[in-house]
Amino acid sequence: MFPGKRWSSARSIAALFVLATGVPLATLFWLGWRVWEQDRALEDQQIRQRVERAADIAVAALERAVAASEKRLAAGIEDWPQGAVVVSWHAQAVRVRPAERVAYLPVSPSLPRLPDAPFAAAESLEFRKSDFTGAAARYSELAHSRDPAVRAGALLRLARSLRSAGRLAEALPAYAPLLSVDGLAFEGVPVSLVARHARCAVMEALNRTSALREEARVLAADFERSRWALTRAVSELYAADAARWGAAPSPKHAERELLAEAVTALWQGLPASGPDASGREWKNIGEENVAVLWRRSGGGVLALVASRQFVAAQWLNAVGGVLQQERVKLAIQEGSGGLPAGAIRRAADTGLPWNVAVASEDPAAERAPFLMRRRLLMAGFGILVLLSLLAGYVIFRAISRELAVARLQSDFVAAVSHEFRTPLTSLRQFTDMLREHCGLSEERRDLCYEAQARATGRLTRLVESLLDFGRMEGGARLYHFQRHDCAQLVRDVVEEFRREPQAASFDIRVTGNGSADIETDAEALGRALWNLLDNAVKYSGENRAIEVAIERRDSEVAISACDHGLGIPAHEQAAIFRKFQRGEEARKRGIQGTGIGLAMVDHIMAAHRGRVELRSEPGRGSTFTLVLPTRKINHGPSRRAGRNQENAPRMNTDEHG
Ligand code: ADP
Repeated sequence: MFPGKRWSSARSIAALFVLATGVPLATLFWLGWRVWEQDRALEDQQIRQRVERAADIAVAALERAVAASEKRLAAGIEDWPQGAVVVSWHAQAVRVRPAERVAYLPVSPSLPRLPDAPFAAAESLEFRKSDFTGAAARYSELAHSRDPAVRAGALLRLARSLRSAGRLAEALPAYAPLLSVDGLAFEGVPVSLVARHARCAVMEALNRTSALREEARVLAADFERSRWALTRAVSELYAADAARWGAAPSPKHAERELLAEAVTALWQGLPASGPDASGREWKNIGEENVAVLWRRSGGGVLALVASRQFVAAQWLNAVGGVLQQERVKLAIQEGSGGLPAGAIRRAADTGLPWNVAVASEDPAAERAPFLMRRRLLMAGFGILVLLSLLAGYVIFRAISRELAVARLQSDFVAAVSHEFRTPLTSLRQFTDMLREHCGLSEERRDLCYEAQARATGRLTRLVESLLDFGRMEGGARLYHFQRHDCAQLVRDVVEEFRREPQAASFDIRVTGNGSADIETDAEALGRALWNLLDNAVKYSGENRAIEVAIERRDSEVAISACDHGLGIPAHEQAAIFRKFQRGEEARKRGIQGTGIGLAMVDHIMAAHRGRVELRSEPGRGSTFTLVLPTRKINHGPSRRAGRNQENAPRMNTDEHG
């Protein structure tokens, strides 16, 4: 085969390999990638749909919780859990329940004023003449009045003039009865607050520290339970004094402040007069937020103002079960801040006071089954990729083998033609010589005939051997087994071979340890030995010695042909027994051959239930040994001796005699 042709066939193999493996592989990768992408998209979509559904359910539950609060509000219920107050107002009157949950009111209710007239004379003594003792005596008398307002006014003035007179200790009991007076105001401030505050101031002046702290604590406690409905300014003024006198601020102070501020802001922004309306708001108060549910009707406003704690405990908690069931978490919008990722429900759409975001409770766990599915899918693709690689490899190997066989066959045809040409040429030459030179001497004529006979013999052997090989390959070779003396048979073959012209210059020696009876097809065994001798001659190089040995080994006979020529490298020693296989050295040196000799030897040995052994070293020669059993051969189906399995012939045996 020409090198150019070989190159193009290699290219076609490569193209075929790419087609058979590369294209399916690329398709598989592309498909795998597409499937992965689509599965991810599907996963996202399914999770989104589930969260959207859960968001609807959660928002509906939240809506129910808020609506329930609105109902309670409308029903006039004033007992609300911690963190919320109900506020209502008409015109100027503001009412908050529970009152103690706010630190102050937007406006204070106007309390009845104390009368001034009964004290005009005593006050004249007190202020114009600075007669504090005289004034105190007059006030003491009035303090026994039946009118509680006059009584309260007298006691306040009595204490005041005693203080002015420097009789501080006496001022304290004068204030004492006023501490329990409710519903009366002195200059807009509740009388009891004025009295308590004044007692603190007196105690401070008297340096009665512990009594002062106790008094201040009571003052602060009264603030905390909103005993007095005060405006922010009054409340802060008195509360600051209480703190100065050692009253610890209430832990609920911040929440009371927040709710009071929220109520004030609501009152300021929502006039009682106006069309009927209602609303839900998430009002921003300083850095905090409060929820407001309000309704205006009939010239009045009713509202629920609730802190974040109330919202969390009453409304968000109410949807906790739904959230758990739906495996989602919920967040409401804080201030103007952004919402966490998830299904968003805007306040404008839901009517709730806030925007709401709902997200999966555990996104990783939710994605786990999808991930597992994708991994399985990818494993499937991986297996497909491996299979297609394997298929590509198998195809590649099969094609390479076919090409190699085709190459070997083509080499074989060339070699056979060459083998034929040599005897045909000498036949033709000697025939021409006989025809053209009629006057040839008897002696020369005989030489010509002999040469013709040799060429014809060679041709016959060649044809026979090819036909034989064909039959062996096709399993149609018939073997005629008979008992023979192996030593004799070998000597006959060697003798005949010595007469061949190519063997003329060789010293072929036969050694042996006696006769050995074996059951054999003499012609086949002779052909096998002939092939070995022929090879020994061809591949001997300069060396001219060949040894043939017959050796008995227990139940076997070994016939070996040993030369001292080229030798065979280890990596070729198995391959040369395959049909058409030739050694590299034989090719390089241009030694003629068809590559079927050893394959035939192998066939023949298998038919004899024997084997071929080879010992060889490059440059030192080779020894081929035919090992045959001496016992009677069982002619069942042939079991090959391990080599050349794919060429194993179906063996037909035909025994005669
Ligand atoms: P052929 O001799 O026609 O090439 P064979 O099947 O008889 O075919 O031999 C196969 C190959 O084995 C030969 O081409 C040669 O390379 C190698 N070979 C066989 N016998 C010998 C030997 N005695 N010495 C060296 N090489 C050998």
